[in-house]
This record gives sequence, structure tokens and C-alpha cells, in this order.
Amino acid sequence: MGERVVVALGGNAILQPGQRGTSSEQMANVHKTVSQIVRMIEAGYDVALTHGNGPQVGALLIQNELGSSHVPAMPMDYCGAESQGFIGYMFSQCLSNAMAEHGVSGRNPVCVVTRVEVDPEDIAFKKPTKPVGPFYTEEVARNKMDEKGETWIEDAGRGWRRVVPSPDPKGIVERDVIRHLVKDGFIVVASGGGGIPVIRDKKGNYAGVEAVIDKDLAGEKLAQELDADIFVILTDVPNVAINYNSPHQKWLEKVSVQELEDLKALGHFKAGSMGPKVEAALRFVKNGGQRAIISSLDHALEALSGNAGTQITR
Ligand code: ADP
Ligand code: MG
Repeated sequence: MGERVVVALGGNAILQPGQRGTSSEQMANVHKTVSQIVRMIEAGYDVALTHGNGPQVGALLIQNELGSSHVPAMPMDYCGAESQGFIGYMFSQCLSNAMAEHGVSGRNPVCVVTRVEVDPEDIAFKKPTKPVGPFYTEEVARNKMDEKGETWIEDAGRGWRRVVPSPDPKGIVERDVIRHLVKDGFIVVASGGGGIPVIRDKKGNYAGVEAVIDKDLAGEKLAQELDADIFVILTDVPNVAINYNSPHQKWLEKVSVQELEDLKALGHFKAGSMGPKVEAALRFVKNGGQRAIISSLDHALEALSGNAGTQITR
């Protein structure tokens, strides 16, 4: 077995900007994404995958809401599980086909519906920040706040949107089974959308909660649990930048943990997008990982060989 790599795929791996999100659009995107993954496998890397689910879970929430006069609507943790299932199905399908096409034998894909434990005392539960689902009018939002005790906010003039807590991932509940599968050579897709957030009561019983765990931070936990050598975050920009989107923008290439910590403290990485990626990369290397990489999907293999993307080492 070669170096073990955990790859966290961003939203663009499954849905491109401007697309409606039909099944065939999503399958075609996953097909393209997987061709990059198969190149890694061919190059000898031992790969496990995780992915985002924002637009998919958003669509499920709409389907549930609009269908609720006919069939019962499912809560967010169930929608998270559903999205992991169908996204995992797309990856399994595309991985099987691509590996057969490339003559990679003896490897099979598998998707693990994954729960991620969070701390019920996490301060995130006191202040929901993560927008989910569609935009609504103020009237609808006020009704939901009164009836269900949900938190809704006005989002930059675009309408009202529900916000949920985004607690820190504490551990992957399915860690042992995932480790076994990886050891046995399966190409595992796990912890999709940051995992289904669950809390544990004093008796040790798990319960799902309405929250969203950041997929890059959960991916880092997965990488740690799998003793990965390299943690790769693939998004829609080739590198992490300082002064992003300004005339002084500069792409970062090789950075140390200390350098990146300092830049982070200066506020270069936006909360909700690059912020958690940088944090996840820092955690991975600080927790003993060899190297973390932040780059784009089309630079994946070059980035793994150290010749593209932002490379974070101790
Ligand atoms: P993903 O779905 O891959 O998680 P996000 O939209 O959450 O994607 O994060 C990637 C986005 O982060 C980029 O498209 C870019 O617009 C934004 N971004 C914010 N700050 C930075 C930065 N300092 N350097 C690079 N990209 C940044
Ligand atoms: Mg993101």
C-alpha cells in the first residue's frame, strides 16, 4: 500500500455553479471528479473520500417541505443521511465504472453512512450560524420561529433563511468499520456533508441533532482516525490566497503551520469558506499528519506530488 490520502471534495465536485442539480448533471460531475481520484489510485495512493452536501441537503429540505401535505417531512439529520446515501451511490457507481475502464482491479468502492459525535455543550448550540435550505419571506420565517423555535436570519437582502448550529466534530462513530474497510483495500466514501451530527447522553445513547458539521473539519477527523499521511482539500481555487480578491492577492505555495497560523490571525481566511479549510489543514499537521494540501480538483495529482496547491507542513 502506498501513502494514505484522505480527500475532502468541495461542492463543485458534485454540482457546478448555475446548474439546476438534476440527477444526470450531478452524476456527470461526479464522473469527472472520479477520473481525478482514479488517477491517484493508479499512481499508487491509498485513497479515502469525503464530500460536501450543501446544495443536495438544501434540495431535500425543499422536497420534504413541499411534500409534507402528502408524506411526513423528515428532520435535518435524516436529510443528511439521505444525502450521504445518494451522493455515496453516485461515487460508488462512477468509481466502479472508472476503475473497470482504467483496468484497476481488486478494488471496490463502498459508502458508509457516517455519524459524527458533537458535544452538546459546544458553544455553537447557543449561537446558530450556518444557513441551510431555501430563502423564504419574512412572514414564513417568523411563523417557523414561533411554531418550531427555529432560528432564522435575513440574509443580505436575498430573503430569510434558517440557520443551525455548526458544532466542532469530536469523533467519527463508525471509525472502526471505516478503518477495517480501508485496511481491506476498499475505496471508502465516508463522513459526507460533515457527517450526521449526533450527541451522546449520560447513558451512552446517541441522538441525532439539527446541526451541520463543517465537512473539512470532519474530514480532518476522518484523516486522523485513518492515520492518513496526507489530507487533501480540493475546492474551486488552485491555492489559498492572502489578500484574496484584492489587487494584493497572492497565492500561497509552501507554508509552515506557524506561518499559516500567523496569516489566519491577521484575518486572511473567510469564515464559512476558506477559514475552516485552513483550520482543518492546521489541525491535521499539528495532530501529527505529514502534510495537508489545499488546491483545486483539476490540480489534484500535481498537488499530491507537491507541485501545485498550498502545501502545509510542520
Ligand atoms: P467548498 O464547497 O469547496 O467547501 P467554499 O465555497 O466553502 O467551497 O470555499 C472555497 C471558496 O473560498 C473559494 O471559492 C473562494 O471564493 C473562497 N475564499 C475565501 N477566502 C479565500 C482565500 N483567502 N483564498 C482563497 N479562497 C478564498
Ligand atoms: Mg465549504
